[in-house]
Amino acid sequence: VSPVEPQMLSDLSVASDRGSAALVAGLKAYFRSGSTAELAWRRRQLIQLRKMLTENEARFIQALREDLHKAPQESYLTEISFLYNDIDHTLKHLKKWVRPRKVSSPLLAQPAKSYIKPEPLGVVLIIGAWNYPLQLLLSPLVPVIAAGNCAVVKPSELSPAVSHLIAELLPRYLDNDAFACVEGAVAETTGLLEQRWDHIMYTGGGRVGKIIMSAASKHLTPVTLELGGKSPCIVADDADIETAARRIAWGKFTNAGQTCIAPDYVLCTRHTADRLVPAISKAVQQMFGRNPRQSADYGRIVNSQHTLRLADLLGDGEVIFGGEVDAGECYMAPTLMRCVNLDSPVMQEEIFGPLLPVVELEEFGKVEEFVNEREKPLALYIFTRSDAIADRILSLCSSGNACVNDCMMFMLAQDLPFGGVGASGIGCYHGEHGFKTFSHYKAVMKRKNILDVDLRYAPYTNRKYKW
Ligand code: NAD
Repeated sequence: VSPVEPQMLSDLSVASDRGSAALVAGLKAYFRSGSTAELAWRRRQLIQLRKMLTENEARFIQALREDLHKAPQESYLTEISFLYNDIDHTLKHLKKWVRPRKVSSPLLAQPAKSYIKPEPLGVVLIIGAWNYPLQLLLSPLVPVIAAGNCAVVKPSELSPAVSHLIAELLPRYLDNDAFACVEGAVAETTGLLEQRWDHIMYTGGGRVGKIIMSAASKHLTPVTLELGGKSPCIVADDADIETAARRIAWGKFTNAGQTCIAPDYVLCTRHTADRLVPAISKAVQQMFGRNPRQSADYGRIVNSQHTLRLADLLGDGEVIFGGEVDAGECYMAPTLMRCVNLDSPVMQEEIFGPLLPVVELEEFGKVEEFVNEREKPLALYIFTRSDAIADRILSLCSSGNACVNDCMMFMLAQDLPFGGVGASGIGCYHGEHGFKTFSHYKAVMKRKNILDVDLRYAPYTNRKYKW
């Protein structure tokens, strides 16, 4: 590989800036034509997006296998069918969502009609992450289209097979005057971020989230940031341990732990940990066999760099189960740890891999304090048979999303908003919440020319002031 001169790099970024500027200018001109605001156009694009998926399902499943070694069933469940549901739900309700909503008008303004009219924002930039590279890029595109916007999608460079496939297929199915896919890494994304967007939707880590927000602030562009963090999984002493273990193992080890809403660590008493740890080990063996490396259903880490990062965390506590790593194959076994050092990286950083620390508290009553001393998580899980315990934790601990007696299943409820709070994100989407995110709710009042009450006009007499 020949060395790249700094001058060459800056030339590249200037060239990509120019390309981005022309692209955005073209999309804006099309947006201004009004074509994207038409309901029929929006519906057509959504139907085309669905068609792109159905006609190329096998290719997407293959690309997800290449990037992350995902099992076909897992890809279907967590990426493809997820998008079908999203699109179908949107097509079913869109007519209702776009309808202006009447509100009352004040006496002084009568006769008048007041209503709230959702209008599209314009041109949206969608930046995707690599862990669910299809779903996380296209699921925001669904409400972006539904709300009548144009968009540029930027897939993650760390999942190249899916990125190339989307770049190949999107222009074949969607209106090319309204949508484009730009592939690339930091240089290309930086070029895109220089442009003036009407909204930026970013999914990824908080470090880059700050770069996105700072670039957006130059143009006062609103952002939706879908970030991550450490999602706690609280298991109370009264929990159904077998069911909890199975559901936690599924939530944690699907996609080899590379899920933003995966339980990051378990929080329980020592008594519960003694029962839970063997139950989770058993659940892992039931899902992936004695040697998960040979299981067709167990994923791989996205690249060797991330595998080595995860391997380093193994020293932060006692490995109870798993722990095998092969960086060459990007493999890390489903791993359980106890006695972790709370000040070490495994408990200070988001793990984002198949490594589950079980943190033991002296008394269960300290769980809220433990959670609240840390950043607000994206998801919070509570396993208990008691509504009172669940409700107490739900009311004392803030989190983007929460689920009682399961992991991640809230994602399937189309009417629930999905998004973080505090360090885990800004804004939300899914279903109508996504439609609202990518719309502006314009306040409109329509008046008549009759009955021009003169109370508001000068000269202001006492009679007018005190009416
Ligand atoms: P990543 O490395 O794929 O980065 C995300 C995007 O940012 C990519 O498109 C990438 O090209 C771009 N990017 C990277 N560096 C950049 C820079 N310097 N300037 C501009 N753009 C840049 O993804 P990641 O950050 O490794 O993703 C993992 C994180 O994402 C985890 O924290 C996870 O919890 C979070 N995540 C959140 C959600 C959610 O929906 N809330 C979903 C998935 C992942």
